[in-house]
Amino acid sequence: MQTIEKYNFAGKKAFVRVDFNVPLDENFKITDDTRIRAALPTLKKILADGGSPIIGSHLGRPKGVTDKYSLKHILGHLSGLLGIEVQFAGDCAGEEAAAKAAALKPGEALLLENLRFYAEEEGKPRNVLEEASDEEKTAAKKAVKLSQKEFTRKLASYADAYVNDAFGTAHRAHASTALIAGYFDTADKMFGYLMEKEVQAVEKILKDINRPFTAIMGGSKVSSKIEIIENLLGKVDNLIITGGMTYTFTKAQGGKIGNSICEDDKLNLAIELLKKAEEEGVNIVLAVDAKIADSFSNEAKTGFSKVGEIPDGWEGLDIGPETEKLYADVIRQSKTILWNGPTGVFEFENFTHGSRAVGEAIVEATREGAFSLVGGGDSVACVNKFGLAEGVSYVSTGGGALLEAIEGKILPGIAAIEDN
Ligand code: AMP
Repeated sequence: MQTIEKYNFAGKKAFVRVDFNVPLDENFKITDDTRIRAALPTLKKILADGGSPIIGSHLGRPKGVTDKYSLKHILGHLSGLLGIEVQFAGDCAGEEAAAKAAALKPGEALLLENLRFYAEEEGKPRNVLEEASDEEKTAAKKAVKLSQKEFTRKLASYADAYVNDAFGTAHRAHASTALIAGYFDTADKMFGYLMEKEVQAVEKILKDINRPFTAIMGGSKVSSKIEIIENLLGKVDNLIITGGMTYTFTKAQGGKIGNSICEDDKLNLAIELLKKAEEEGVNIVLAVDAKIADSFSNEAKTGFSKVGEIPDGWEGLDIGPETEKLYADVIRQSKTILWNGPTGVFEFENFTHGSRAVGEAIVEATREGAFSLVGGGDSVACVNKFGLAEGVSYVSTGGGALLEAIEGKILPGIAAIEDN
């Protein structure tokens, strides 16, 4: 497999798929440029070699050309970070893009307009009416798949090499994330530096495990985490199930949960998961106490209660002190740690304590030699909010992509480079 470090981009044009899907405020100012910064090592290497990056990304979920989602809003900031005036093509697959790509000189960079302005990027038909017949829907799907080929071929035609540095979209088989790789020789396609680090971090969690291995799965719903929990049962020694999910388990075991968040249709599933964990010899760690509130608000009256004895009219919005200690003890003894999802409603200042305690215990374990991977939007937001990002081994930029990789799924963006 080719690597970006070995590749010499001198005199070459490289189509670089990045993830510049950054948040913008109402004046189109970037409010968090982490994703742009994460792609800089790759872009700088290409430029330093004397190559020319042709940069493609999506921004938001546009349903066609929409000014709000134009990548022109980030052009100035990107130019500043790279220290060169990056050129811009206002249509990623039009004549302007082809001409600007062709005229690009070594050391120059071109940013293409939002790839998702074309339905062909995702290969999903748009504007098909709900009431269309099945035949019409199938015909629309076929049509977009056909033109997707043309679109992909066009993007590929701009460049001599293909670099995928967009881990956040690696779980999508889109034109620019996977299909395009088919138009380049094995020697001319590779991961960017960011993607390489992400793939290595996932491999360490899945294949190169130092034990004990502890996964902390938090967040609101069992239903959105079920596949990953099932997959982890065959791998981890300890599984801390926390956050809003706690109460589905507590209720399933006969506890009183007051108004706490609960998925009543998942009670049997919760019991099955506990049984499966026992069969696999996995130590499931559930909360024993909760920080409770009399309403879903930062200003609510608060108290503490045993997790299965929450009074009517109250709800659990974070873990309590006994649980913090219980979790921290397990985490501190671990050698491999995966954290996905907060222990409570960390968006409310009064319910951040548990998530902070988990983050701090992970940092301590990491200092003692553990490998720790934090991923999935909300736990990343937690470590950033608490200033703990420097103390963990790796903070993944991929939410859905990371979870799918850990579920054991093959990511099309990775397979397109690794398997060809
Ligand atoms: P997820 O997107 O499934 O990872 O869930 C993250 C969300 O879960 C965050 O917005 C938290 O506020 C929320 N959450 C965590 N604990 C609780 C809880 N005890 N009750 C309600 N929501 C929670």
